[in-house]
Amino acid sequence: MNVLVLNAGSSSLKFQVIDTDLEKIASDADRCIARGVVERIGSQALLRFENEGGKVLHTAQPIRDHHAAIDQVMRWLISAEAGVPTIQSFADIHAAGHRVVHGGEKFARSVLITPEVIADIEECIDLAPLHNPDNLRGIRAMADILGPGIPQAAVFDTAFHHSMPPRSYLYAIPYQFYRRHRVRRYGFHGTSHRYVAYRYRRMLNIPKETVRVITLHLGNGCSAAAIDAGRSLDTSMGMTPLEGLVMGTRAGDIDPAVVEYLMEKEGFSSQQMEALLNKQSGLLGVSGLTNDMRDLLAEAQEHDDRRARLAIDIFVHRARKYIGAYLMELGGADALIFAGGIGENSPEIRERICAGMDWCGLRIDPARNAATVNRKEGEISADGSTLRAYVIPTDEELLIARDTARLVAKAEVPAW
Ligand code: ADP
Repeated sequence: MNVLVLNAGSSSLKFQVIDTDLEKIASDADRCIARGVVERIGSQALLRFENEGGKVLHTAQPIRDHHAAIDQVMRWLISAEAGVPTIQSFADIHAAGHRVVHGGEKFARSVLITPEVIADIEECIDLAPLHNPDNLRGIRAMADILGPGIPQAAVFDTAFHHSMPPRSYLYAIPYQFYRRHRVRRYGFHGTSHRYVAYRYRRMLNIPKETVRVITLHLGNGCSAAAIDAGRSLDTSMGMTPLEGLVMGTRAGDIDPAVVEYLMEKEGFSSQQMEALLNKQSGLLGVSGLTNDMRDLLAEAQEHDDRRARLAIDIFVHRARKYIGAYLMELGGADALIFAGGIGENSPEIRERICAGMDWCGLRIDPARNAATVNRKEGEISADGSTLRAYVIPTDEELLIARDTARLVAKAEVPAW
């Protein structure tokens, strides 16, 4: 079946069409037949669509909202110029799968969307005001365009981390605020951590229950997870994606007293403070240059830029700190797994994060590390390492499509 996977952001819409079903899932034979992105929704939008053969369409046109963006995606998919032979009409899209950022405490796994599910996602808006409303817009637009009969599934960023024990997910603040407002750590990037843990066990051909790894999703957003017996035991993001590792524009861990102090000293409002921590901090904030790790590495190397070096140092230091903590929590791990744009493409950052880890059995093999880029999957540790390191390119869309196909087929949907 053809599943349209949608990831709706505030002004962007990413999509993939994935041909999958239970048989294809079992043999890893499912594949992406078209993909693309609409950016700058709400003004003169930029559209980039690509079919399976690599034929790319670039256009710019005014696109009012998510509804209009999905409409445009559908029109392209059925057009002759798209060159997607298995999609001739809207009826050839058999289901839609949506990335939904926050599932609160309600959703421990993916679900088919019903009016009740929509109401529950709406209830989580307070927890994810930046994301859930856009995800809902995508869901509503899809039902509008393809008709209310189209099966749609919601796949939550938080679901995989439902297995965290209270000691991992509770903040040490008065317990009543957890009871009254559900203030706790939820964790995000769950679909990515779950996917790479899945690939890892497929690569090694081991049962789920034996997976004991630390996964590092290092993209624009960054998070780490400690995975024990296949399940998430702890993760670095918290009630929102702001906690934890240093990210492109997010600060990650910070003493909360800094917030009040800066608000007082600089006269910032809470909105300004939120923007500062989410959009102006991290690699961008420290370097004063960019949130892009590639550019920072180039600046540090070519111009010996001090602040670029500092930003990278803090990024690496924070990642190492979490690895140390998770090794302790897990009582040792079998592997570190790198994913995300930085994790998949930067041998230098991987090498720096894993430096000096001989004491716990990890040595990086420089040649393997250098050769594992551009979505290549493989081991980067040296033979004889007892803690191994892998690069596993993440594929959240594939997991979303698979969960959708399983739900449509009324098959069991794994939570981990
Ligand atoms: P998102 O979280 O938005 O999906 P990605 O996973 O694509 O983002 O990661 C984006 C990050 O990956 C950027 O910081 C980018 O600089 C970084 N990146 C991509 N390629 C490289 C590379 N060759 N070396 C270092 N960093 C890279």
